[in-house]
Amino acid sequence: MAASSMKALRFHGQKDLRVDTVPVPELQPGQVKVKPEWCGICGTDMHEYIAGPIIIPSPEKPHVLTGCSLPVIIGHEFAGEIVELGPGVQPGRLKVGMKVCIEPTLFDDSCPPCLDRRRNCCDKGGFFGLSGWGGGFSEYVCLKEKVVHALPDNVPTDLGALVEPLSVAWHALKASEHSPEHSALIVGAGPIGLAVLLCLIARGCRQILISEVSPQRLKHAQDIASAHPDIEIIVIDSTKSDVVAESKRRCSQGNQGPNTAYDCAGVQVSIETAIRAVRKGGLVCNVAVWEKNASIPMNALVFGEKKLIGVATFREGDFPEVIEAISTGKIKPEKLITAKVALDNAVQDGFEALLKSREHVKILIHP
Ligand SMILES: [Zn+2]
Repeated sequence: MAASSMKALRFHGQKDLRVDTVPVPELQPGQVKVKPEWCGICGTDMHEYIAGPIIIPSPEKPHVLTGCSLPVIIGHEFAGEIVELGPGVQPGRLKVGMKVCIEPTLFDDSCPPCLDRRRNCCDKGGFFGLSGWGGGFSEYVCLKEKVVHALPDNVPTDLGALVEPLSVAWHALKASEHSPEHSALIVGAGPIGLAVLLCLIARGCRQILISEVSPQRLKHAQDIASAHPDIEIIVIDSTKSDVVAESKRRCSQGNQGPNTAYDCAGVQVSIETAIRAVRKGGLVCNVAVWEKNASIPMNALVFGEKKLIGVATFREGDFPEVIEAISTGKIKPEKLITAKVALDNAVQDGFEALLKSREHVKILIHP
């Protein structure tokens, strides 16, 4: 007989995450039940832990799509195994026993952005693992069939848990129309900055600059650079070098700077650096989520005819492309995983460990 209760990591409030015993979710028509094997801690989860609820709905304002509010189960970067298909789901693309990863976007499939294939911008949009209906730091989840993606045999579920952050980077490269002959600057070498680096490498970029302030994060970027001696990857310590000057000097064609700059830090100095460093006619792509507004050097944009765009998560098609790129070895994301922790120790060895040290990139929890 199937278990009726399970363990899950729930967000109750700021600095208040608890491993609770909760009912196993009931499988609805059109859904698939998955047992998560690995789930990564995201920067968004950290923001909620430190200063939340931010995205997580509070009881005064339940989520418009899910109707849920805290306590909610968290975790949205995960992969696991299918344990049951719900009514109406025919075994075919998905089967019981299959390893899968999850696209955690919640969307209504009916608003104008959804009908325009922008489910990531859904008017009622949310996140599985933040907005209710469950999350990856739990023993079982039930999800719509279309957000469940099969993993090939050579992509284990720990790497499957990295498909979500890599898809954010992948989507950013597509949205910024990055082509292999373009040079790129990445501002910030946190998990998303490193994901952008890996995806740029996978997509054939030949010249990449990446800047960062933290020595540990610089080392992670340097490790990836060392593994790709055939590509010009320049790691810039922004506490020691002027990133704008260095970008202009290093990118050829008359000190013009890179074609594209990715802000993966989301602070005043990072967006300003990206805008000033990118060449005239170039494009700045903001991948970061912001805690407060920035002041934009508008005349640098205006007189350089530079473009500034925002990107949000990922769209239909990004997950399968990233899975394929990992399977064929174009993306080698193993280095992003710096620790693996049991669910019972998730707060101490996961969230608190990330708070204390920037030595970690991605900590995976085993639910
Ligand atoms: Zn929608």
